[in-house]
Amino acid sequence: MDRFQHYIDGAFEDGETRFESLDPATGAPWAEVPMASAGDVERAVEAAHRAFRSGAWPGLTSTARGKLLFRLADLVQAAAPRLAELETRDTGKIIRETSAQIAYVAEYYRYYAGLADKIEGAHLPIDKPDMEVWLRREPVGVVAAIVPWNSQLFLSAVKLGPALAAGCTVVLKASEDGPAPLLEFARLVHEAGFPAGVVNILTGGPEAGQALTSHPKVTHIAFTGGPETARHIVRASAANLARTSLELGGKSPFIVFEDADLDSAANAQVSGIFAATGQSCVAGSRLLVQRSIKEDFLARLTERAERVRIGAPGDMATEVGPLCTRRQRDRIEALIARSVAAGARLVTGGRAPETAGFYFPPTILDCSAAPDAPCLSDEFFGPVLSVLPFDTEDDALALANDTAFGLASGVFTRNLTRAHRMIRGIRAGVVWVNTYRAVSPIAPFGGLGLSGQGREGGMAAALDYTTVKTVWLRTSDDPIPDPFVMR
Ligand code: NAD
Repeated sequence: MDRFQHYIDGAFEDGETRFESLDPATGAPWAEVPMASAGDVERAVEAAHRAFRSGAWPGLTSTARGKLLFRLADLVQAAAPRLAELETRDTGKIIRETSAQIAYVAEYYRYYAGLADKIEGAHLPIDKPDMEVWLRREPVGVVAAIVPWNSQLFLSAVKLGPALAAGCTVVLKASEDGPAPLLEFARLVHEAGFPAGVVNILTGGPEAGQALTSHPKVTHIAFTGGPETARHIVRASAANLARTSLELGGKSPFIVFEDADLDSAANAQVSGIFAATGQSCVAGSRLLVQRSIKEDFLARLTERAERVRIGAPGDMATEVGPLCTRRQRDRIEALIARSVAAGARLVTGGRAPETAGFYFPPTILDCSAAPDAPCLSDEFFGPVLSVLPFDTEDDALALANDTAFGLASGVFTRNLTRAHRMIRGIRAGVVWVNTYRAVSPIAPFGGLGLSGQGREGGMAAALDYTTVKTVWLRTSDDPIPDPFVMR
């Protein structure tokens, strides 16, 4: 079996407790990984705090920090095939997607490397003649970064990139499911030559997460995961009053009007719900389709769903691999059963095959007669599409916004003015028009409502890891006048 280690204070450690990580394609153990205790978390936070307070990282020039991030980006790019193989092995995500995604992760580090020496303060035209006042942008301190099992390398890059560029130090907690790629990534951080303690990476579950998020020396918590865990984290942050940025789930509407290019919309819908076996926070899991084209569009999707190549995630020809965990597969099956009991009609899929591994087929549920079924309200985080028809543009908008989430959305139409009305009306952090699942380090990403708060990506994300220090400098040599009057 492969073995992986924690990375704390610049050194690799086995950890006291270890566990076996399962290969989702077979359900069999394939690697041994450490499970962080509260004590491991304590040492990691102390190391990050030392690296911060000593100036080992924030004390470098911003250009020097950028250069190290560029080096890391190059190492990630060179190691992308190995990292992709590990992520596929440990999470079941197909190699076709991990290869492309991890090569792109290098671009995120590159973007923030270039940004490191462009985080500027400001000079204020203050209303007092004998004062110079300016703002310094300073790093907030120790960042706790917590990621879920899907796309751990990607989801940590959108936290580490801006945090490190801003001058913060980081303790990154990988998920207890599929942590191998992040522990391998730690070797690249080491090879790049970051000072000890600047980046610490460990694997753990709720216990480690709780210890990390409530630690008094943590000043910012950057979390991606589910809303329930987010609530724990917000409660934990009552202890240290750390800032939080929360990237949570979704039940994103995918809206198709009768004037859309249906071939293109069908392809985007397949990618939006079946790619990554539906384990994507932006999954377009609620198809809202105009009634006049519903049967035609559904027939296209069903034909494509039934033709999807399900197979070993490491095979380049595979289109849908296994889910990451047995727990996830069982949960999806139960949610489908509840939805069918509530009146949803199973169009295709719906049952896990009798094979080894955590496979689940592309599934479509027609919810026309089940407006209150869980398949329209709950995030499944799997390859399950819920379909609802609509008649008018106003109906489409009302259905789109009938959710507690607000992460992503897609609109397919050739009508430009309608597209603009939909863009304005949809309550979500991202609107894709005639496309879906496009991302870039240059574009902010995030949600509202149960989908979270804060944005990752872009310049604003780097500023989120800074705090403003206001400096007042008196330019007069005269004695300070009346000390009892505020100046
Ligand atoms: P999860 O919330 O169960 O776990 C996420 C992480 O939180 C894991 O590392 C876990 O160990 C940790 N954790 C668990 N309990 C904790 C606690 N008490 N304190 C601190 N940390 C704790 O999520 P999951 O099931 O692993 O991932 C799926 C969820 O992530 C879905 O809801 C999905 O939509 C969401 N997600 C969101 C985005 C986004 O960018 N918005 C991206 C990917 C996934």
